Amino acid sequence: MAAGRARTVLLTGSNRGIGLELVKQLLGAPRPPAWIFATCRDPEGPRAQELRDLASKHPNVVLVKLDVANPSAITDAAKIVEGKLNGMGLNLLINNAGIYTPAASLETVDAEEMIRTYKTNAVGPMLMAQAFLPLLKKAARESTEKGLSCSKAAIINISTIMGSIEKTSESFCKPVISYRCSKAALNMLTKCQALTYGEAGILCVALHPGWVKTDMGSQEADLTVDTSVRGLLSVLPILSEKHSGTLLNWEGKAIPW
Ligand code: NDP
Repeated sequence: MAAGRARTVLLTGSNRGIGLELVKQLLGAPRPPAWIFATCRDPEGPRAQELRDLASKHPNVVLVKLDVANPSAITDAAKIVEGKLNGMGLNLLINNAGIYTPAASLETVDAEEMIRTYKTNAVGPMLMAQAFLPLLKKAARESTEKGLSCSKAAIINISTIMGSIEKTSESFCKPVISYRCSKAALNMLTKCQALTYGEAGILCVALHPGWVKTDMGSQEADLTVDTSVRGLLSVLPILSEKHSGTLLNWEGKAIPW
């Protein structure tokens, strides 16, 4: 079941929160991936201690330095991963890294904050998919599976219901303009990726993890990170071509754009 039995997985922002829990639960699966490329901005720093501890116990975890807001860091990471894969493809790319500025209302938000958030939450996932596309295509080509799936080749963009235009009024008590706009852009990116990369056999889906108790979600949130990630990982194996280009929540329920 783990990640639809993807053999090779890469995640961004895997040193804390949802990203770190994804790494832990992938490792705890009955058949863990052969390689988990756990990327983060500062693998040597204090905020990656838990991830380093995991990597020291699990030889299938490879730590890779990657700041998704830095285009050259993305291409450098793709070269490292390609070398490590040694001819294998990449089955699953999870664009998880994200930033959130709670105080960004229409009164306070400025150009700098909009661009900073957009770079991480929307441009980063776009550049990640471009850089890792040859490895995803390779995995798709070499798979004997029919249709689209996470075990073949997939891009999962961790988005949010806050990026849904239709659902905005339900949560607008928190305007978070830069976050909402960047995640609406990520949703559009997901649809465009699905329409473009589907032909190459790559599934593209946006997932909302729920409101989760992490540094971003705060301790007031509804879900523990364990519950959210268990949900996300049980959704991955059910994804197929009919889901590509959609936004689903951690229980697999569709969210309108
Ligand atoms: P956290 O704030 O707990 O963790 C964010 C992660 O993203 C950290 O690992 C952080 O690394 C990383 N990150 C931030 N900027 C960059 C960057 N430029 N390059 C690489 N990594 C970066 O957030 P969550 O775990 O809660 O969120 C994960 C994803 O889930 C996000 O995309 C978020 O939008 C989404 N989400 C979360 C919800 C929630 O309630 N928690 C609700 C809906 C969606 P570092 O330690 O270096 O800062």
